[in-house]
Amino acid sequence: GQFVLHYQPKIDMTGRLTGLEALLRWQFEGEAQLGPAQFIAIAEESGLIDEIGDWVIVTVCRQLRAWIDQGLDAPCVAINLSTRQLRQPDLAVKVGRLLVESGLSPDMLEFEVTETAAMENPQTAARRLDELGAMGLTLSIDDFGTGYSSLSHLRSLPLDALKIDRSFVRDIASDANDLAIARGTIALAHSLGLRVVAEGVETMAQWQLLRGLGCDEVQGYLIACPAPAEELAGILALGSIQLAARP
Ligand code: C2E
Ligand code: MG
Ligand code: MG
Repeated sequence: GQFVLHYQPKIDMTGRLTGLEALLRWQFEGEAQLGPAQFIAIAEESGLIDEIGDWVIVTVCRQLRAWIDQGLDAPCVAINLSTRQLRQPDLAVKVGRLLVESGLSPDMLEFEVTETAAMENPQTAARRLDELGAMGLTLSIDDFGTGYSSLSHLRSLPLDALKIDRSFVRDIASDANDLAIARGTIALAHSLGLRVVAEGVETMAQWQLLRGLGCDEVQGYLIACPAPAEELAGILALGSIQLAARP
């Protein structure tokens, strides 16, 4: 009962809200919260991630239902899937059942998997992603550029989007190599028919460079920080986030 989900908006280059990412926090009573970096790896090793991951999926579906019931235009919510969850043979069946129970259409859910997760047991991962993709869920590769991946394997997956890791975005305005990596990644993704989302966008300079490179969507503190569901009602009602210093 101490887990909570925060949600971080993603917008396109016109400011339109394109989705939210659900991010897990562990809230201690009266104490500061722990971020996923401090417990997800342990949950993976111990196997608890299966149960925690199920809780995340159920909670996101309930939240989407609650927003819709409040009359809000709920966007697609992205859930991070761990390596271990990709091995669950009944993952797609469970998700399908939850969607029906919550009265949600499949395009309201997205799953993000890291390259590393997609490459560990590539056959199993591909089968799971094929099942989820066939149901009409959106799928994306997270933290792109930081893991080991085979482009021929990635090409065979039913992906919709690729997220450029924030380690390349951070110095994009000062490091020519990072700029080159971002440019190359965007070109690669577009030629494979994938949308590109840049993570960790914190400054207007980064946003402007990414827009110039043809990046489709951005996520980061410049746009909005992850926040509890209650705090998102305003953004959902508006359906967009306008950046103050937009040229
Ligand atoms: P991620 O999926 O790449 O999520 C993005 C991370 O970047 C989040 O960290 C987010 O708070 C942070 N972030 C967003 N904008 C900015 C920015 O402008 N600057 C900086 N410096 N950081 C930014 P968080 O919430 O600590 O999550 C870390 C990782 O934990 C996530 O990386 C994801 O891999 C994992 N994670 C989070 N929630 C879950 C979950 O429910 N299940 C699983 N399996 N993994 C999760
Ligand atoms: Mg993610
Ligand atoms: Mg990421």
